[in-house]
Amino acid sequence: MRQGKLTVIIPLYCEGEHFRESFTVIREVVDGLPASQVAGWECILVDDGSTDGTWEVLNNLAAQYPEQVRALRFSRNFGKEAAIRAGLEHATGDLAIVMDGDLQHPPELMADMVNLWAAGGIDVVNTVKAERGNESLLYRLGVYGFNFLMTRAAGRHLVGDSDYKLLDRKVIDAFLELRERRAFFRGLVNWMGFRGANLPLHIRERAAGKTKFNVKNLVRLGLTALTSFSTIALHFVTILGFLFAGASFLLGVYTFGAWLLGGAVEGFTTMILLQLIVGSVIMVALGIIGEYLSIIYTEVKGRPPYFLAESIHAEKRTTHHDE
Ligand code: UDP
Ligand code: MG
Repeated sequence: MRQGKLTVIIPLYCEGEHFRESFTVIREVVDGLPASQVAGWECILVDDGSTDGTWEVLNNLAAQYPEQVRALRFSRNFGKEAAIRAGLEHATGDLAIVMDGDLQHPPELMADMVNLWAAGGIDVVNTVKAERGNESLLYRLGVYGFNFLMTRAAGRHLVGDSDYKLLDRKVIDAFLELRERRAFFRGLVNWMGFRGANLPLHIRERAAGKTKFNVKNLVRLGLTALTSFSTIALHFVTILGFLFAGASFLLGVYTFGAWLLGGAVEGFTTMILLQLIVGSVIMVALGIIGEYLSIIYTEVKGRPPYFLAESIHAEKRTTHHDE
C-alpha cells in the first residue's frame, strides 16, 4: 500500500460564476479521502487569463484555505494545456489529479483513482468516457476522424480518453522532462507509457456557463496532437507525388499515342480539369508541409508556454532544465 500527499490541479478559464460552489463540492470529496492513502493535500487553481471574476474567487479561496489552496494567474489566456503544465510544475504532491473546474468530471471518482494508486503498481489512472454527451454530429465526426488518425497514423489509442487523470510523482517528473512547448497532455501521458489503469467516466452537465472550446481551438489542438505524434502526413505528400507521377506517365503515353494515331484528346476541358487538380494537390501538399513548419517555428523560438501575472502560496519546483 502507498500513501502520499495529493495535489489536485484545476485549469480555469472564466469559471467565476460557479467556482466557489464547485470548489466546495471538490473539497468535500478530497477531505473525505481515507487518511491511509492521502496524507495531506493541496489544490492548484490555475486562472488561465479569465476575463470574469475568477481570480477574485481564487483569491478568496486562498485566504479561506491558506493551507490547501494555491492559486496562479496567467497574464492572458494561454490555453488549458499550458494551465495543466503550470499546475504540474507547481505541484508538491506525491500524486496529482488533473480535473476540469466545471464539475463535468465527477469528483467522487477521485476515491477510486486514489484507491488504484494506493494499491501500488499503477502510476497513471486514466478516465475514459463511457458515452459521449449531447455533442453535435459535426463534432462527433471530427472526434471520430481525429481518433481514427491518431490510432492508425500515430499508433496512439486515445478513443474516449479524457484529461481527468491521476499521475504518480514519477510520471509528473517525466512529463516535465519533455521539452515540447505545444504539448498535448492526454497524448503525451499515453505515449510516456507508464503502467496505467482505466476507469469509466460519465461526463456530467456543466455546473454553469458553457464550454470554453470552439471549433478553432479544437482544430488547433487536433493538429498539434497529430503533427507532434507522427510525420505520416509528410509521407502522405510523398506518396501522393508518386501516385500523380504514375498517373501523369500513363496519361502522357495515352495522349502521345492518340496524337500519333491522329486523334488528340479533347482540348480545353481536359486542360482546365488538369490545372485544377494539379493546383489543388500542390496547395494541400504545401499546407501539410506548412503545418510541420509552423510546429518547428514555434518550438525553435522556445517561448515559455505561459507567463504568470500573480501567484498565491505557490512556488515552482525546479526541474532539470531550469538548473
Ligand atoms: N479551460 C482553460 N483554458 C481554456 C479553456 C478551458 O483553462 O482556454 C478550462 C476550463 O475552465 C475548464 C476546463 O479547461 O475547467 C475544460 O473546459 P471546458 O469545460 O470549457 O471544455 P469541455 O468540458 O467542453 O471540453
Ligand atoms: Mg467542461
